[in-house]
Amino acid sequence: MKLQNFAENSWIEGDDEGKKLVSAIDGRHVADITSIGVDFGGMLDFARRVGGTNLREFTFHDRAFMLKALAQYLMEHKQEFYDLSTETGATKSDSWVDIDGGISTLFVYSSKGRREMPNDKVYLDGPPEKISREGTFTGQHICTPRHGAAVHINAYNFPCWGMLEKLAPALLAGVPAIVKPASSTAYLTELVVRRIIDSGILPDGALQLICGGVGDLFDHLECQDIVAFTGSKGTAEMLQQHPRVISESVHFTAETDSLNASILGPDATPGTPEFDLFINEVTREMTSKAGQKCTAIRRVIAPAAMAADVVRALSSALGKIRIGHPANKDVDMGALASHGQRDEVRERIAQLAEEADIVYGNSTEFETIDADAEKGSFFMPTLLHCERPLSAHAVHSVEAFGPVSTVLPYENLDEAIELARLGGGSLAGSIITNDNAVARELVLGSAAWHGRMVVINRHCAAESTGHGSPLPHLVHGGPGRAGGGEELGGIRGALHYMQRTAIQGSPATLAAIGNRWIPGGTEIVSDVHPFRKTFEQLALGDTVNTDERVITLEDIDHFADFTGDTFYAHTDADAAAKNPFFEGRVAHGYLIVSFAAGLFVDPDFGPVLANYGVDDLRFAQPVNFGDSLRVRLTCKQKTLREGSGYGEVRWDTKVTNQDNEVVATYDVLTMVATDEEWRNVNA
Ligand code: NAP
Repeated sequence: MKLQNFAENSWIEGDDEGKKLVSAIDGRHVADITSIGVDFGGMLDFARRVGGTNLREFTFHDRAFMLKALAQYLMEHKQEFYDLSTETGATKSDSWVDIDGGISTLFVYSSKGRREMPNDKVYLDGPPEKISREGTFTGQHICTPRHGAAVHINAYNFPCWGMLEKLAPALLAGVPAIVKPASSTAYLTELVVRRIIDSGILPDGALQLICGGVGDLFDHLECQDIVAFTGSKGTAEMLQQHPRVISESVHFTAETDSLNASILGPDATPGTPEFDLFINEVTREMTSKAGQKCTAIRRVIAPAAMAADVVRALSSALGKIRIGHPANKDVDMGALASHGQRDEVRERIAQLAEEADIVYGNSTEFETIDADAEKGSFFMPTLLHCERPLSAHAVHSVEAFGPVSTVLPYENLDEAIELARLGGGSLAGSIITNDNAVARELVLGSAAWHGRMVVINRHCAAESTGHGSPLPHLVHGGPGRAGGGEELGGIRGALHYMQRTAIQGSPATLAAIGNRWIPGGTEIVSDVHPFRKTFEQLALGDTVNTDERVITLEDIDHFADFTGDTFYAHTDADAAAKNPFFEGRVAHGYLIVSFAAGLFVDPDFGPVLANYGVDDLRFAQPVNFGDSLRVRLTCKQKTLREGSGYGEVRWDTKVTNQDNEVVATYDVLTMVATDEEWRNVNA
């Protein structure tokens, strides 16, 4: 099989014979790969001109629905992905991380996109900024999709997840992608892309694929393009220095290798649950994906007094790992991706062994189940121990991308922190301790060197996602050696594909641009109460200015008795007066909010279906009995919930007193029926 490239809406084969790709299990010829003859400049142009234009026609919610449909479609086809994934040396659980993990990233981005982004084409980054005394000139940060292509270059170890974790945020943002998988496992990526294209869910130009080298692609990069790279530090550095990346200030994100550490707390002595958790965690990180994970634990930082126990327990746990054909269900660890990778890991261990002792593994003779250890790229887990890690260099800088870790002893927490930092920047770090003071000291001492840190103890272990699992909700990436990039992290991941722009102007202008009403903007007052309007009929700025209501002492007493909230500030005049904020008894904040609702609601049956909460409630100053309150309620933001019969409407609410002073502000959140739903309800 010759892998094909998907360029400018066509599947095309490269012009030459290509490079031979072989199975990690037995060296069988699996596919050939080449992109010679592909018009890379044409691909970029197509992505920008067709893909970007098509994607930007949609709102964030439309694209989020696309991701969901895509995830559902891929779920239906996942068995064929699993079958092919075995050839990469992955066991079923390795493939689960790659395939189900990748698809679930699409689901998470779909759901977050619909919940946390507007059903619109512009994303408002934070609230408006007050920059003028009278509020007639204001500022708002907005994010809009870049008009370029996202070039996604991926490593070989996660051919499915690696693509989807980059694709989901890019598509949600509205930016088309050109995916370039690592050659050795590109056959799985090609199959997944084929299914994505078959599904017909994405618009033309949203996704293209390069199987093989990238040719002169970088020579055609422009300032709106983005490169998101995952792989080794060396390749990242070389690509980052491409003249076009520099001259066009191309947004370049790198996720590279890292010498991730796991620290065992001094409290976690043998016999404690944390000691066992540590041994399990390190063993799992060393052996899942045969250690070919950028987040795997390479450095095992343990109290010096326990180092021998750790070595003994890890050796025993590693001795139970069964190596062999990944499709055999008795097998715990499959193969490395290729013979080349196996040779490289051996070389790296030799470098590490110059300053550390091999205490387990590294043998060329070991048992394999259903597989020939030599024909396939199998490798025995290998553990080293470095006596003096503070003065060592290789253990903190040489990445053996396989089932290899080194135990590094420490005398005190300062040394543990120093050792963690010596990795020079990591994707993930973990701390196994049941002492929260230790956790705080280690985290504050080393967080700046990490993209993600996980603290595991007996209370969270059962539900912990573990040291090495990047999650779509949390950032993935790390400083220094880890590449200095950042991906995922929920909506943050999509914002990397967008340009943040500060917009200044009048509140009404900014409201028109951002589709969110801003205080100081136009207030539309009419005879029709906004609660009588359907979602479509409501306009941003529709406002109710209420009558006033006086708060009496009886109201405060009644509210205190009725709710049981007899807090002294509402019930005891002397005690209240001693409080620096009050002169005497004051009204309950919730009484103000309740009276406000009583003032602004239109009570009759109408299109407003429910009030599902309030946001940003602030009580600006005390309300004394005798004060009179008024409310200004304004339609601030509308978010249609596609297909549900309603939309969410946010109302800007300001409660003022008789002197026109603001006493409370908040957003009331409601669900309002659409025209169609309202007709159905009344039919
Ligand atoms: P690699 O050799 O750096 O390759 C990474 C990607 O870059 C591959 O797609 C590769 O394609 C491509 N590439 C190589 N030379 C290129 C060039 N001149 N122009 C454009 N693209 C080029 O790394 P790898 O061996 O695939 O992956 C293993 C490394 O990746 C490890 O060091 C690991 O720590 C790191 N990694 C990091 C993460 C992370 O999230 N931080 C995740 C996984 C892996 P070809 O395969 O066709 O050469």
